[in-house]
Amino acid sequence: MKQELRVRFAPSPTGPFHIGGARSALFNWLLARKEGGKLILRIEDTDLERSTRESEENIKASLRWLGIEWDEGIDMGGEYGPYRQTERLDIYRQYTQKLLASGQAYYCYCSEEELDAERQRQMDNGENPHYTGRCRDLSPADRERFIAEGRKPTVRFRVPENQQIVFKDMVRETVSFESNGVGDFVIVKSDGIPVYNYAVVLDDALMKITHVIRAEEHLSNTPRQVLLYQALGLPLPQFGHISLILGKDRTKMSKRHGATSVEQYKNLGYLPEGIVNFLALLGWAPAGEEEIFNQEELIQAFSMERVAKNPAVFDVDKLNYINAHY
Ligand code: GLU
Repeated sequence: MKQELRVRFAPSPTGPFHIGGARSALFNWLLARKEGGKLILRIEDTDLERSTRESEENIKASLRWLGIEWDEGIDMGGEYGPYRQTERLDIYRQYTQKLLASGQAYYCYCSEEELDAERQRQMDNGENPHYTGRCRDLSPADRERFIAEGRKPTVRFRVPENQQIVFKDMVRETVSFESNGVGDFVIVKSDGIPVYNYAVVLDDALMKITHVIRAEEHLSNTPRQVLLYQALGLPLPQFGHISLILGKDRTKMSKRHGATSVEQYKNLGYLPEGIVNFLALLGWAPAGEEEIFNQEELIQAFSMERVAKNPAVFDVDKLNYINAHY
């Protein structure tokens, strides 16, 4: 039997819902609908200072306005609330205990100042800044001393040496890297909150996500994530990193280019059908000349093979042209 396709949209609720996030959600949703799969909404709210419920509500309202529904989450009596990472801390803790027990992770007591000084020294010597593994094999006496000093440890992942890691990206070529350049990295901060690279791997694996489709800015995080999948003995999903969205001047789209959030476009009077049609064409190319597609037609026509790796250019004239058809 064919494995069910499971994708997710995993926004961080830290501000207005950007048009780039809406495009990632849309590509995942189109793929799920096309393949008869499931879309999961997961709120990545581990940045406690910047995450707000208001932003989460705005993301959900914008998705609903665009007609992008998710299929799974916490049962709220007839409707699904999203998964929230801050409600899953116990789950991450269990895995951290396992990694610590097996020696695949260790407590690191280095202070920010010590780490900064180390980075500075490395840069002064022309090296790439990386953690040297000072706390890898601490003696019990040193550990006692650090604890007595009241230092709160982070948890670092022990990066295996001499490994060639290769993964295939649905949009890009095969990506390959050496584990030696990575350096042991923090997976749990000193306040007990997991970092993005760690929580994302556990969640994607536990939620049985088969395809991780997200913005290109996360491509540089993927090697660390692959190392974590391997250490945890979890199967890798397929990755697909979709291109950046540029303004017409071919610099990364930002507020300088005008409206950037879904809500702003809604308030400007654009129609959700027009926005969806336009966003679908930002990085995905249909097979023929036709540019006007309703939702059903988009679902039928969409495929990851036709997602381009070149940056997509946000052209407001094109948005206006498409929007005028609805
Ligand atoms: N929470 C991340 C973000 O909003 C997305 C991570 C991912 O899709 O892996 O950028």
